[in-house]
Amino acid sequence: MKKIALIFGVTGQDGVYLSRLLLDKGYIVHGLKRRSSFFSASKLKYIYKDLIPLNTNFKIHSVDMKNKKSVKNMIEKTHPDEIYNLASQSNVAESFEISEDISNSDAKGVLHILQAIKNSKKKIKFYQAGTSELFGKVKEAPQTEKTPFNPRNPYGVAKLYAHWITINFRQYYKIFACNGILFNHESPLRRETFVTKKIVRALCKIKYKKQKKLFLGNLHSKRDWGHAKDYVLAMWKMLQLNKPQDFVICSGKQYSIKEFINYTSKQLHYPIKWKGRGINEKGYNTKNQCVIEINKKYFRPAEAGNLIGSYKKAKKILKWKPKHDINSLIKDMINHELNYKENDIKKF
Ligand code: GDP
Repeated sequence: MKKIALIFGVTGQDGVYLSRLLLDKGYIVHGLKRRSSFFSASKLKYIYKDLIPLNTNFKIHSVDMKNKKSVKNMIEKTHPDEIYNLASQSNVAESFEISEDISNSDAKGVLHILQAIKNSKKKIKFYQAGTSELFGKVKEAPQTEKTPFNPRNPYGVAKLYAHWITINFRQYYKIFACNGILFNHESPLRRETFVTKKIVRALCKIKYKKQKKLFLGNLHSKRDWGHAKDYVLAMWKMLQLNKPQDFVICSGKQYSIKEFINYTSKQLHYPIKWKGRGINEKGYNTKNQCVIEINKKYFRPAEAGNLIGSYKKAKKILKWKPKHDINSLIKDMINHELNYKENDIKKF
């Protein structure tokens, strides 16, 4: 019998990579998207045709996570063995403006899934996508499963509720439920609202004279970045354990935005020279043209702290460690950018 997986948030970066992983493992995958989402099954298959094979084991449905009945019906209809909740409004910068929406989807939506699992006749395993934003203004570094949380924005706060309600349902109702506390993970499918994609895309365009300048916020902010492809494997591995537990998934390495730019420019053979300090720090190309500048509007009023994780527990129990490092991640992102045909997406 083929295993059945239900993925909330299938149209996002992780949803696409996880679908591919599970299809390769022989699962039947039901992907769920928001009703308002611009994607349909055929669009998703077309856009990600290299990632998701055109096979019948992959189906897409619409769901409204804010509606308890809609979630319950979907779970009853698809009979999943495993549910992965990747649905999230994950844009930290916007999260104060849309805080109510975020708490409805990222916090209450999880409760709706857990209630449906509790009431289901079938035993269903559950993965909840947590985030390093839970650590926010960090209490210690590196962060582990035991580090106290201290979120700094409504996104982190909604995810904190999701984290604890998952643990509470696990303990009280004996549901097989795991929280993955995932640090930033990127890929060619990352949206341009995230800094890695913004940098890679802009530097490719600047090199080929399709853009003049890249404007950024804090160049000295640091992140622990991994590749989404590695991280979805950790999600699956959590649900194959005998006992449900929570895990930090990260690269264990930390780089600044400026270092990320330097690695990208090196791979593109497009050297950048830095001059100036503070908000006057600028990047110049070999013709001494200014191609990178700071714009205060991209600074965060409440920036997260020194985010760097330790994946010691995942290595020991899940036998997981990242395959990609910062350079292979950037390489993958650059290759995609240079081969990307804008018309493929414009067709829809
Ligand atoms: P986040 O960790 O989920 O907020 O991921 P982002 O990719 O949005 O941001 C990572 C870091 O890059 C944060 O510390 C931002 O302050 C910093 N950053 C600097 N310039 C920019 C920018 O232009 N856009 C974004 N999104 N982040 C920037």
